Amino acid sequence: MKDFFDTTYAELIELCRPWSVQHAKAIFRSLYKDYSLEPLNAPSLPREMVARFSEQFYLNTADIYQESVSRYDGTVKFLVRLADGALIEAVLMPERSRITLCVSSQVGCAQACSFCHTGRMGLKRQLTAGEIVAQLMLARRWIRAHPQWREERGFHEKITVNNIVFMGMGEPLDNVEALKRSLTILCETIGPNLSLRKISVSTAGHLDGIKNLLEAFPKVSLALSLHATQNRERSQLMPINRRWPIADVIAYLKEFYARANDDDRSVLIQYTVISGVNDAEEQAQGIVDLLVGLPVKINIIPLNVVGPSQFKGPEPEALERFRDYLHRSGFRVMVRYSKGQDIDAACGQLVVQHEKQAASESISRA
Ligand code: SAH
Repeated sequence: MKDFFDTTYAELIELCRPWSVQHAKAIFRSLYKDYSLEPLNAPSLPREMVARFSEQFYLNTADIYQESVSRYDGTVKFLVRLADGALIEAVLMPERSRITLCVSSQVGCAQACSFCHTGRMGLKRQLTAGEIVAQLMLARRWIRAHPQWREERGFHEKITVNNIVFMGMGEPLDNVEALKRSLTILCETIGPNLSLRKISVSTAGHLDGIKNLLEAFPKVSLALSLHATQNRERSQLMPINRRWPIADVIAYLKEFYARANDDDRSVLIQYTVISGVNDAEEQAQGIVDLLVGLPVKINIIPLNVVGPSQFKGPEPEALERFRDYLHRSGFRVMVRYSKGQDIDAACGQLVVQHEKQAASESISRA
C-alpha cells in the first residue's frame, strides 16, 4: 500500500493518467488545502478510479498521543504515534509573526551524541517521507482546530505553519532519501506550499549527507550542530566527528557558500554550551578561527539537563561571556533558550520520559 502523504505530485499525476491527470489536482487540494483525511471523497473523482485507489492507497495520519501547551510561550509539544505505535516528537513554536514546526526524521537516533537524550535511545527506525509530511499536516490541523490559541498570540486567521526545522528526533542526513522526498512534497505549490529557504535541515555534521542534500536542494537552509571545534573534544561529545572531522565539513561549506554567492544566505551554527566542557574563552576563540570566511549565524543554547547526566548547564555569567566574545569578534549571535520550559519541549525528552514512565509502570505491575 502507498501512503498519500508519501506521494509526490508527479507520481500521483502518473497514477491518475488512465482517467485524467486533473484528478491529481483534486486529490492534492483535498489533502493539503482542505486537510481532508479522506482525499478519495473529493468531488468529481471517477468511481472506478476511487475503487482502484482505495486498494492501492492509505493515509498515514499520525495521531496525537499526547499534547502539552506551554503556559509561558504557547509552545505546543506533540507526542505523535505512528501507525506501528512508535512515538516521535514534533514541536510547534509560535513566534512574533510566524509559526515554526520542529519535526523528527527518525525514531531514535544512531549518532549517540553524549549530551543528547534521543542519542541514548539508539536508532529504532527511519521515518518515511510520508511520516515527515504527516507531522506538518497534523500541526496544521491542530492550529485550525484551536482558534483561541491563534487569537491569544495575535495571529491572523489564515496563519499556519510555514517554517520547518528538522531539529526533532533523529539525524536527518542518516535518512537522506526520505528527507529529500519529504522536501519535494513539502514544497509542492499545489500541496503544502512551503518554501525551501524556510526549511532548515539540522545535522550533527554528516558530510556525505550534506553534499547529497545540497546537490539536490541547493536552496534549502542548513543548520550545523558544532558544540566543539577541536577534534579530540568534539569526537568525545559527537562520535560522528571521527567519521567526518569538523574541519572537513566546514571547508566544504565555505566552498559551497562562496560558490552560491548569495549574501542573504548563511549557515545556522548551533552550539550547546556545557559547563566546564566547552564554555571557556579559548573555545570561543576556536569558533572564531574555524568559521572565519563562512557566512553564519550562531545560536548558543544552554544545555538542557533532564534526569541524571554527567553534564551541567552553563552558569549565566559564563554564557554571557561566551556570547559577548563571539559578538565582539563580529558574529551574529543569539542565545536560544529552550522553548516551552514547563513542558520539557526539548530534545527527545518527552519520549524518553514517556518510556521511563512506561517502564516503571510495567515494573509496578509485575
Ligand atoms: N541530529 C541533528 C538534529 C537534531 S538535534 C543535529 O544534531 O543537528 C537538534 C539540536 O539540539 C542539536 O543542535 C543538538 O545538538 C541539540 N541538543 C541535543 N540535546 C540537547 C540538550 N540536552 N540540550 C541542548 N541542546 C541539545
